[in-house]
Amino acid sequence: MKNTAYINNKAYEYQDGETILNFVKRTVSEELIPTLCDAPNLEAFGSCRVCSVEVALEENGATKTVASCHTPVMPNSYIYPDSESVQDLRKNIIELVLTDHPLDCLTCEVNGNCELQDVAASVGIREVRYPEGENHLHRVKDLSHPYMTSDLSKCINCYRCVRACDEVQGEFVLNMAGRGFDSHIIKGNNESFMDSDCVSCGACSQACPTSAISDVFQSKAIKTEEKTRTVCTYCGVGCNLEVSTKNGKILSIQAPYEAEANQGHTCLKGRYAFKFYDHPERLRSPLIKRNGKFEEASWDEAYEHIVSELNRIKSTSGPDAIAGISSARTPNEENYLMQKFIRAVIGTNNIDCCARVCHSPTALGMQRAFGTGAATNSIEDLDHTDCIIVIGANPTDAHPVTGARIKQQFMKGVTSIVVDPRKIELAKYATYHLQLRPGTNVALLNMMFYYIINEGLEDQNFIDNRTEGYDDFKESVLKLDIDELEKVTGVDKNLVREAAMAYANSKAAMEFHGLGVTEHTQGTFTVQLIADLAMITGNIGKKGAGVNPLRGQNNVQGAADMGAQPHQGAGYMDVTDPAMHQKYNTFYGVDVVPDHIGYKIPEMFDAAISKDLKALWIIGEDVVQTDPNTNKVIKAMESLELLVVQELFMTETAMRATVVLPGSSFLEKEGTFTNGERRIQKVQKVVEPIEGTKPDGQIIVDVMNRMGYDQPDYTAKGMLEEISQIVPFFAGVKWDELGDNGKQWPVLPDGSDTQMLHIEEFKRGKGKFHYFDWKESHEVETYSEDFPYIITTNRELEHYNCGAMTRRTGNVDILTEDVLLIHPDDASKEGIADGDFVCVESPRGKVDIKAAVTNEMKPGILSSTFHFPEIMLNIITSDEHCSEAMCPEYKVVSCKIRKSKGKHKVLAEA
Ligand code: SF4
Repeated sequence: MKNTAYINNKAYEYQDGETILNFVKRTVSEELIPTLCDAPNLEAFGSCRVCSVEVALEENGATKTVASCHTPVMPNSYIYPDSESVQDLRKNIIELVLTDHPLDCLTCEVNGNCELQDVAASVGIREVRYPEGENHLHRVKDLSHPYMTSDLSKCINCYRCVRACDEVQGEFVLNMAGRGFDSHIIKGNNESFMDSDCVSCGACSQACPTSAISDVFQSKAIKTEEKTRTVCTYCGVGCNLEVSTKNGKILSIQAPYEAEANQGHTCLKGRYAFKFYDHPERLRSPLIKRNGKFEEASWDEAYEHIVSELNRIKSTSGPDAIAGISSARTPNEENYLMQKFIRAVIGTNNIDCCARVCHSPTALGMQRAFGTGAATNSIEDLDHTDCIIVIGANPTDAHPVTGARIKQQFMKGVTSIVVDPRKIELAKYATYHLQLRPGTNVALLNMMFYYIINEGLEDQNFIDNRTEGYDDFKESVLKLDIDELEKVTGVDKNLVREAAMAYANSKAAMEFHGLGVTEHTQGTFTVQLIADLAMITGNIGKKGAGVNPLRGQNNVQGAADMGAQPHQGAGYMDVTDPAMHQKYNTFYGVDVVPDHIGYKIPEMFDAAISKDLKALWIIGEDVVQTDPNTNKVIKAMESLELLVVQELFMTETAMRATVVLPGSSFLEKEGTFTNGERRIQKVQKVVEPIEGTKPDGQIIVDVMNRMGYDQPDYTAKGMLEEISQIVPFFAGVKWDELGDNGKQWPVLPDGSDTQMLHIEEFKRGKGKFHYFDWKESHEVETYSEDFPYIITTNRELEHYNCGAMTRRTGNVDILTEDVLLIHPDDASKEGIADGDFVCVESPRGKVDIKAAVTNEMKPGILSSTFHFPEIMLNIITSDEHCSEAMCPEYKVVSCKIRKSKGKHKVLAEA
């Protein structure tokens, strides 16, 4: 044996660097050594000493007692993990712990699921020998927070919560204060959970071995109830959740430690924001609008009404007068069905999804450069990179679990570059923060290329062997006027040079980007330049590198994969290609799928207003609140003859529907979500659909059948079988073989999956360099004189998109409103104080919003969210969009501000 050590005098092989605890657990038994301060997702700490073992240098020789959790195995050592002496020691340690712990186990919330209780039993404690002395049992509970609770009389000072806050979330809210007997856990500056900077991720609660830190759902109280593993419905990280239920009701959610996507972590949305699912405001019956008022209808009535209207419009105006917007919130199988319904039953390619308003430029730009519009690497690669560049993304708010992992890497010292107009949280830890003016990403990336080429830092080998178009690209870059670009971006050219050199000099550099890249008129061009950046430095096809879009909605990757877009069907095949067009028709058993591209979402709105589009079916998207230029969207909705909205709640869009269908939440149905690293994961039904609602896939199937198309009832397994026959990269995806951690596409017919793309060659053969000149946004060119500020939209950690779900959970008690972020200089210039209402006016309209004065912003730049319908920020955003992918330009909106005189939220006449 290469590495030999002995456990109770029997030889075993240990792994290089392995701790004694892991060695014993792996080779002999998980149970042999009890632990208290150790946890699966934390670094070894060696504080409680419960894991002590005896170690000798020879068989039955003199021993030394060490904490096994952090002591590496020595070659040829003799380990005695359960000697009488260590058993006595462990028992004594636990007895001492119990002298300062309430012994009211029977009434404790974690009775039966308490690690201290388990360890006490395992070391054989029946009673505590020590007399009662001074203790901390009088400590007061902290019930200040909507989710987090603490009862520090039960604290055993194991530091697990402190370490979870530091090592997992990187928030440093929890700490140990005092010395000796006075040592105690504090939050922030000895505040309550609510007053501290706690981000409510729940990592501390899950880590705590007792109920000293817990939550209002008493997540750890649940030991024997039914548990279902599923995937979070909010962002594209795709965290795995373990949901506890009892009698058909959801009690709480924890995060499985072995989940590859989130490794035992979640943010507050995944772990705690689930109570929307049975909220009293859930839609519970189909509604048909008659004489301007909604009336409850049976499912049959609603279906008949929809089918007769769709048939009427189809026969009088043709199939292209009908369109569908599918949902990036619903599973792949439902998206597939929705696009199939629109294409094979209605007979049009007028199908799109919210990828249009977020990452359509990513898909298009990466397809043009690499041949595939998806993340090239896996999140796990963060452990193998030595440089991270984050462009136009705020992951600690919008993709919190990945954001926390990136933050950990920043803090550990990898070279880190943040390109963002705001001083986002990651910027505070970054080596370089390039705080550019919104709308100048192209100019900034061009500056980076200029320095990389001028310093001779290109990876010429990679360029020569793997790419094409470099010579033209280089020629254009070398002509750039760097001083002009410095003025355009507002970023010191020397700082850009340093950052560019740091990126190019690193062994493996990983790129992440978000909507701060895509939601611009030059969004697709920026993505193509990001691809150039990876190619010019050879950062593709290797571990710890790549181009990795942070997908916004949980299944936006899947919705596009499934064909919920007007130019490509399921599996990204071009609908205008005669062979592909024929393939879809043959597969669907019809002859109606057209060979011309359908409407993109903004085109649907224009067509509705011009009366070319007469019917629209929207699943799970509140376009009135979230799409730009609200008044125009409302006008489009109100111009339609039929607007079907499939929803959980009466959203701003549903209010304007002619028929509302109550769909089901992710907790009530099955299917798969595909996360931002192409991981197809099982969404499993946790509870039955709320009475009166139906799974969205079944609703579509019901209508397909009523319109004469024979589609079997919805099951995830059945749908995946169908999808695997038409989507090439799903060829080997089978419901029963997805396992707990899913599979990353492409999944080959033999079931093997793919952690990294473009290893040997790109999907398109050679990677393609493209060069683009920076161009000022049309919005700024046209309006900057009268509207001198730029407002750029963002997201907050606590809320999700239109907020329909998160506003119906405890999150609303943590973050109650949208605010306007404004630099102190601008605030003082305009006579605005923190908390004042500000009237923000753009050429489209005006909104009133409360000011939050902060140095996070650059002077002249404002920022806000659109989570709350009370504000309706999109009244002021514009129709400008990416010239290639039609993604709206939410990030550059010209506006002027003044202290508000009153409420100006006026929706224009439709
Ligand atoms: Fe859900 Fe994203 Fe939070 Fe994970 S990080 S729990 S996927 S919202």
